[in-house]
Amino acid sequence: MEQSCDVLAFSAHPDDVELMCAGTLIKLARKGYKTGVVSLTAGEMGTRGTPELRQKENEQAAKIMNVSVNRILDIPDGSIENNRKNQLKIIKEIREYRPKIVLTPYWETRHPDHGNCSLLVRQAAFFSGLKNIDTGQPHYRPTKVIYYMELYDFKPSFIVDVSDTFEDKIKAIQVYASQFHNPEKEYDYREATYISTPEFLRSIIARGEYWGNKIGAHYGEPFLVREPMKLNDPIAHFSDYTFAGLL
Ligand SMILES: [Zn+2]
Repeated sequence: MEQSCDVLAFSAHPDDVELMCAGTLIKLARKGYKTGVVSLTAGEMGTRGTPELRQKENEQAAKIMNVSVNRILDIPDGSIENNRKNQLKIIKEIREYRPKIVLTPYWETRHPDHGNCSLLVRQAAFFSGLKNIDTGQPHYRPTKVIYYMELYDFKPSFIVDVSDTFEDKIKAIQVYASQFHNPEKEYDYREATYISTPEFLRSIIARGEYWGNKIGAHYGEPFLVREPMKLNDPIAHFSDYTFAGLL
């Protein structure tokens, strides 16, 4: 299949992926992997900006992240529900792009859409492997569903060193001028939303530094795998550690 992707990152809204795992996606694209982003909604319930503006910003961010696939589905913002109709929309994306890895938000989260996105994508990834669920496409199941971190922490299964791509991640976030703070402008706190304040943008940088510090890197992005992970060669795997002091 021509259009296949190595990794497909799902999110509830256009801009979630940029905040939470863009450093990893940019890193993987630089390594030559095909990456993709699928937002379940167009973000039309957002307090700031308009869906049209957000779509433009989304296209700019996709260019910065160098993703091969950038999709916005038509599930209504503010009412992402885990039902068969929505599962089929996601199954169609998975079968179209056949990602080895699917990324989705960690299920414990502040915004109900994100928690519902987590469960919906996990279940759709499973059902996508069932031949008798007919979408007119060959059935296909990704190797792994991996969760990225939003507001609520988990103990990461692994942390990706994103020191080299963190600057581009921040650029991808800042093209969402309708959503996030531009440090060159004075902030009007009368129009504050949780994600638009200068403090929020600083917290993204601080979290990148915090998780980077855990692996001896400048910046890191944490991920969770629900199942135990198989390693064929622990020596080769752990020889990759350049910061030997972390025991
Ligand atoms: Zn969101």
